[in-house]
This record gives sequence, structure tokens and C-alpha cells, in this order.
Amino acid sequence: MSEKLAILGGPRAVPAGTIKDWPPIDQTDREMVLASLDGGNHSFGPNCKAFQEEFAAWNGNRFAITTNSGTAALHMCLAACGCSAGDEVIVPAYTWSSSATCALHHNCIPVFVDIDFDTMNLDPDKVEAAITAKTKVIIAVHLHGLAADVERLLAVAEAHGLKVVEDCCQAHGATFAGRKVGTWGHCAAFSFNQNKCLCAGEGGMFVTDDAEFLSAAQALWSFGETRTPLEDRDYHAYALGWMYRNNDLSAAFGRAELRKLDGYLAAQKVNAARLSELLAGAAGLILPTEPPRREHTWYNYTLRFDMAALAHEADAAAFRDRIVKALQAEGVRTELWQRFILPAMTVFQARNAYGHGCPWVCPHARPVEYDPGEFPVARKHADWHTGMTTPLRAPNGPTAAEATARGIRKVMENIDQLDQLE
Ligand SMILES: *Cc1c(COP(=O)(O)O)cnc(C)c1O
Repeated sequence: MSEKLAILGGPRAVPAGTIKDWPPIDQTDREMVLASLDGGNHSFGPNCKAFQEEFAAWNGNRFAITTNSGTAALHMCLAACGCSAGDEVIVPAYTWSSSATCALHHNCIPVFVDIDFDTMNLDPDKVEAAITAKTKVIIAVHLHGLAADVERLLAVAEAHGLKVVEDCCQAHGATFAGRKVGTWGHCAAFSFNQNKCLCAGEGGMFVTDDAEFLSAAQALWSFGETRTPLEDRDYHAYALGWMYRNNDLSAAFGRAELRKLDGYLAAQKVNAARLSELLAGAAGLILPTEPPRREHTWYNYTLRFDMAALAHEADAAAFRDRIVKALQAEGVRTELWQRFILPAMTVFQARNAYGHGCPWVCPHARPVEYDPGEFPVARKHADWHTGMTTPLRAPNGPTAAEATARGIRKVMENIDQLDQLE
């Protein structure tokens, strides 16, 4: 049955107010943040130390350092891996920008590898061809809450003497072969930005099981100072460091959210399963998958529109934008998280970092080219996708997923009406 799309003046499929905002704030958050405020130590205080211990215990790591962002934790990972100027770091061509710019922060050179269409993560088959004598690290990004194939990436790394850094910023609680992300590689980074499944406003965590990685990361984290846990500060910068420490108020918020995280993740799983069930078989849609041996957290429920089936391969991105607008008009809370692949971004195309072409012209670096044409899978994904976070998140339950599915089905079943849109 044909229904008039909301974007053309028809009624909305998802009534206003159906989808609630993330994150729900409760008494635990209020009490813990206020206790920190009244506690008198607002910089790296007791909540920071407790947050590190509790997060390490939750994830199954020996050590954790809390930071003021996930990007800071990623930069610490590269320092911990012993990277130096001109070293190459392998990064998926489709991810958040700082999965790659963390390499630039350490004067290293990002080298991109295409993704696998089904998992949207680094394609392990394509990594080997990108390894050179300069390669030091593979960054395994667990995008959208689905673990990358860490087993195969670690096997490639081991064969070439490389380190594996896990970017877990979107994947708190995701597992591969029953083991949590952040416990596979040499070290890993988590983010606690507002949109992540563990929200502390902003913030991050560096984790590792190796004491040497810990101390290298620690030096970078706090002004290049190095000291054993038993020593007092001597306020001496032994090497170049940054100020990446977390603060007590954010850590208190993070600790409160950590207590709720398993419940949030369980609810997301139920909501995503309901959404997948209701969207199954809808024409023109490619639903996200959860491959065997991997547990998805559904941080982001990413749909791809099958532009081949919809006969819009030639103008995929423009047609996708039209569908997204139509979905939003129906009240579906979907967003375009990232329309660019990384190698096409200006920072890489214009080598827009430290000026004078640095770090790419560093005498220790090998010349590297960024040709977006070399990443056809990432480009196809970038042009065909849209993603949803809010409808699956607490405090929303399955009714939000049901309303969302109704809105998506309505647009897909009446997609010919989009021809009337300019
Ligand atoms: C959010 C995110 C980051 C960066 O985390 P911040 O806390 O915002 O610095 C890095 N990588 C991925 C994949 C992310 O989603």
C-alpha cells in the first residue's frame, strides 16, 4: 500500500518524542559527580585512580591509564609501541579521523588499507601488501561495535614483527572468540566521549597487560615525566610529553556509567535484534551482520542501501542523502556518521599537518601517496551507508526499534516518491 512520505507532506511514521536521548542520567551519576565536586581534588584525583582500576578489571587488563580523550590514548599507544619519526602505521581507510591522525601526532606516517564490506573493518587479506620495512604497527579499529578479525591481524603482525594497537573507542564490551576487545593487541584505546557506550562527557582509557608499554605510555601522558610508582615527582621532563590526564569529575561520571554499562549493552543487543528482525527482507537494504565468534555491541547500527538493486550506483551518495532526508522527515533518528574515506580527507591530500610537508618529508620517512581510488570498498561503503545510535540506546526499549523499523520500511516501500524530490 502506498503511503505519502513525510518529506512530501504525509504523516510521520515515528511520532515526535518516541525516541529518547542518550545518555539517561540517574541518581548514581548525580551522587558520584557531586561527591567528586565536594571532594577537593579536581585534577587527577581518587576517582581517576578508581576508574582505572575498575575499568581494567571490567575489561580484563592488567593496567589502565585514564586520559582526557580516546585520541590521547591512541597517541599513547603508538608511543608505547616504540614508534618513532617516519615509522609507518597501518590504518583502515574507513574509520574516525583520529584512528589515523594519532600517527601524525607521533611523527609517524599513516598507510591506509581497504576495508571488508561485510564487517566494515580492516580487510586482513589486504594488510600484507601494505607492509614495508618502515611498518611498525597495525591499528585494528573495531568499528561500530564489531570486533575486527584480531586473530588474523595478529598472525600477520607476528609474521612481520609488528605491534597491534586496538582502537576500541566504539567497541566497549565487544568480543572476538569470547574475549573482549582491548585484550588482544599489545595495547588499546577507549573513548568516553558523550556518544560512546560509556559516556563520561569526554575522556579515554589506555590499557595494556605489559609493564613496559605502561611506562612508555605514562611518560607521554604527563609532560614526559618518568618515575616508578614509589617515587615522588621530581618535575623533570625526561622526554617530550603531553598533558593527557583525565580529571576527577569526568572520572566520577565514568565510574557511575561503568556500573550501568553491562545493562546498557544488554539492552542494545535486544533492541538491535528486534530492528534486524523487523527489517529482514526489506527491498533495497543491506542489514549489518554479526559474523560467527564475534559479539556485536551495536554501538552504531549501520545500514547500507543497495544502490545496485535501487539502480542508483552512479549517483549513490546523492541518492543516499535523499533517502536519509526522507528517513529523518519520518522521525527516524539516523545520521550520516562519516561520508569521507580517510585518504580523501584534506589532512592527507594536502598534507596539512605541521607545515612544510612534515612529517611526510621527514628524512626518516619513505614517500607515501594517498590515492582514494585504491580503496573501492571503503568508498562504496561511504556512499551507501547511514548509521543509527540513539534509537538502540538506553533509555529506549524495543518500541523505539519498532517505530524506527516502521519508518525505514515506509521509506523503502515508497522509494519511487523520492524521484519527486529535487
Ligand atoms: C571517538 C573515536 C575516537 C576518538 O575518541 P575521542 O575520545 O573523541 O578522542 C577514535 N577512534 C574511533 C573509532 C572513534 O569512534
